[in-house]
Amino acid sequence: MKIQNYINGAYQNHHSGDWMDNYDPSIGAIYGQIPNSNKEDVEEAYAFAKAAFTSWSNTTLDQRSRILNKIADLIEANLDRLAEAESRDNGKPLWLAKAVDIPRASANFRFFAQAITQFSSEAHETVGTNTMNFTLRQPIGVVGCISPWNLPLYLFTWKVAPAIAAGNCIVAKPSEVTPMTAYLLGEILTEAGLPPGVLNILHGQGQSVGQAIVEHPDIKAISFTGGTTTGAHIARTAAPIFKKLSLELGGKNPNLIFADCDYGAMLKESIRSSFANQGQICLCGSRIYIERPIYEQFKEHFVQIVSKNKVGNPMDADTKFGALVSESHLKKVLSYVQHARDNEGYTVLYGGNRVTVAGSENGYYMEPTIIEVTDNSCKLNQEEIFGPVVTLMPFDTEEEALSLANDVKYGLSATVWTTDINRAMRVSKQLEAGIVWINTFLNRDLRTPFGGVKNSGVGREGGLEALRFFTEPKNVCIKYN
Ligand code: NDP
Repeated sequence: MKIQNYINGAYQNHHSGDWMDNYDPSIGAIYGQIPNSNKEDVEEAYAFAKAAFTSWSNTTLDQRSRILNKIADLIEANLDRLAEAESRDNGKPLWLAKAVDIPRASANFRFFAQAITQFSSEAHETVGTNTMNFTLRQPIGVVGCISPWNLPLYLFTWKVAPAIAAGNCIVAKPSEVTPMTAYLLGEILTEAGLPPGVLNILHGQGQSVGQAIVEHPDIKAISFTGGTTTGAHIARTAAPIFKKLSLELGGKNPNLIFADCDYGAMLKESIRSSFANQGQICLCGSRIYIERPIYEQFKEHFVQIVSKNKVGNPMDADTKFGALVSESHLKKVLSYVQHARDNEGYTVLYGGNRVTVAGSENGYYMEPTIIEVTDNSCKLNQEEIFGPVVTLMPFDTEEEALSLANDVKYGLSATVWTTDINRAMRVSKQLEAGIVWINTFLNRDLRTPFGGVKNSGVGREGGLEALRFFTEPKNVCIKYN
């Protein structure tokens, strides 16, 4: 199967005529081809986006809101088809795509359909001087949105929904590894009546089509989610041309478990925060620190439960963990385990191996993996693995727990388990993270600011923060008699 770019409201072929293979990770085989788009395609998409801008930015909020709601409706109506496409492209269990990825993509459009009607700006009266200032919040123009492979439609729509709600037009690029649902979204956009040129979707490599979007002198803002190294490269490219940037980058999140926690709830949620989506969520808690009095008990129970979860074909209803996204990613994740065993002498408490699934022998499957470490400066605790690998380490005091949690270059999210409200407040304030969950994980209210500190990013998505990013504030100062 060959997919096409979606430009000016229609599917069309790319200029180069080169194609790239698209793999089904559950069977480790090519199942389609995607356009290897280039700078020419970006130029073309930009020209259509620019042409659409005047009209789209002057469309009433009510009209924009109606179109966004219609897109949300159509995503819901296509739940099964989109979930199957997502699962096949990414390797995630079908039930997960149905329960989380696709409903959230719909919710993103529905949320920003409402949010844009509630968006307001400030006014400042300079009292005593007959001066009134008010701030216009105007759309930026043509913006670029670049998203990763782990939550493909979920994260793609998390960017494009606020961008178009705010009146911008877009040149967007999903990950080359998981392009299918962004491709299918084109049909939905057309059916929902989104005017041609408002959202253009290009497929291809980061270094060519992604780079061309970032370098384009007239694409005025870039909303990027992906790895920290790519983010740093994008920042270096965009800085001299003064682009507005939102960078949502990698994480190495701590899960702090205090002995006074609700043990049952913590245990259940810690399985999810460790291994959901095969550990390929930027928010997964891959460093688990446990207060010493419950360390041995936790270790035993955690291993026991994890070992009962089935790794299998994503389409099977009883599969808990599906395939990793690609062979290269699987090899990278396995290399961390090997390093921990061979170079650091750590004990793998469970897992650590590739899994052969009957009927899908070439798929990229791996056991959920639990490793006990003793030194927080080890590679496993410092580098983002982005796979089904967690480490366990005991701590004795709250101060030590905080010091271990903060001792990484990342600062995306943190999870804390305690029933002591005073501790919860103290720890939340001192954790170096953009998001802290107390006694819960991945509990999202779309109005809240989302993003990281340190090497996990710059800026915030979510709620009004996203609408602020996708608009330019202009102060108008009026002197009157
Ligand atoms: P990458 O950084 O490799 O890629 C992200 C996107 O950027 C892809 O579409 C990629 O294209 C594109 N890209 C690559 N090079 C360039 C370039 N030079 N210019 C423009 N675009 C480029 O990340 P992954 O796709 O591997 O995703 C995993 C990473 O994403 C992890 O580090 C994870 O933590 C992070 N992430 C962060 C989240 C957050 O909210 N903070 C949420 C989810 C993931 P291509 O696919 O073609 O390479």
